[in-house]
Amino acid sequence: MPERIYNFSPGPATLPYEVLQEASRDVLNFRDKGIGILEISHRSKEFSEVIQEAEADLRELMDIPDDYYVLFLQGGASTQFAMVPMNLLMPDKKGAYLNTGTWAKKAIKEAKTIAKVQVAYSSEDSSFDHVPTDDQYDVDEDAEYLYFVSNNTIYGTQFHKFPEKGKMLVSDMSSDILSRRFDIRPFGLIFAGAQKNMGPAGVTVVIVRKDLVNRAPENLSTMFKYKTHAEKGSMFNTPPCFSIYCVGRVLKWLKAKGGVDAIEKINREKAKILYDAIDNSDFYKGHARPDSRSFMNVTFNLPTPELEKKFVEEAEKEGLSGLKGHRSIGGIRASIYNAFPVKGVEELVEFMKEFERKNG
Ligand SMILES: *Cc1c(COP(=O)(O)O)cnc(C)c1O
Repeated sequence: MPERIYNFSPGPATLPYEVLQEASRDVLNFRDKGIGILEISHRSKEFSEVIQEAEADLRELMDIPDDYYVLFLQGGASTQFAMVPMNLLMPDKKGAYLNTGTWAKKAIKEAKTIAKVQVAYSSEDSSFDHVPTDDQYDVDEDAEYLYFVSNNTIYGTQFHKFPEKGKMLVSDMSSDILSRRFDIRPFGLIFAGAQKNMGPAGVTVVIVRKDLVNRAPENLSTMFKYKTHAEKGSMFNTPPCFSIYCVGRVLKWLKAKGGVDAIEKINREKAKILYDAIDNSDFYKGHARPDSRSFMNVTFNLPTPELEKKFVEEAEKEGLSGLKGHRSIGGIRASIYNAFPVKGVEELVEFMKEFERKNG
């Protein structure tokens, strides 16, 4: 393995090295066919196997029952901000939303152009430093679903208990899908851009209960209907073949690691190492309230923006890359998704101690 930096980038994010090796081999020559994965027809037997295996592995890893479709779509998670209300709310139904950060806010803005929206809770007044508990908000009786972002990538907060408000759940799980085990039954729909925890950019996984795809109005454009893609096994048009292939390799890697339970254990350990370092120091201050802390994106501040800038620059020189917080909140953000190694977290903590000793 060549010398590689530790990549704390929020997304596209670090991928397992084994997957990169397999992918570079298969770009040149896929399964000894004398042709690369980028060049194979999406209608070929080879690619059919790739997409079917990816779906089967995702179903196995997440325990997805038969009455859900698994779709591989394009347009990023952001396209789902519109597709969800187009398919589930048009022409005049209502969706309830929890505003817990930038990605929730964007989804709300989009939904408002399409349907009726209730913003049932917002943590904006406290800089999105927490997610709500069930007793902190009410959901309108006539709302079709309750939408929430399971992990707020930018603010570093995460739902550790999903809402239970007697409503069908819809969730943007872009930055924590496959990081922990949960029961999918209360969910009508889950979507996730692959580029955080599942693969490269270019494909968005949508898991949708089968009966829901029939709700879209007839006159909705073909490409925006889940039904179109569900009926054709995500092959209505050319799918993002290479991204799907890579997701498939990441899923095999995850299975070999012991699956979701095993990775959840490691994710908790990694986050604990980092939060302990923050809690044991007066120099570093966590952004998220302890009960809402994310296991995937750890956000914290230093005493001044100048020190934060210096921290990011010096870390970069030590091979600790991508630590600059999102422009909307500043500070430091360490994204430590499934493929991020424990060793990299330990090295960051060492660096933090050293930096505090020199600058504290
Ligand atoms: C990154 C991210 C998005 C945006 O994904 P795109 O694929 O760039 O549209 C949406 N939601 C969450 C939670 C994210 O982390």
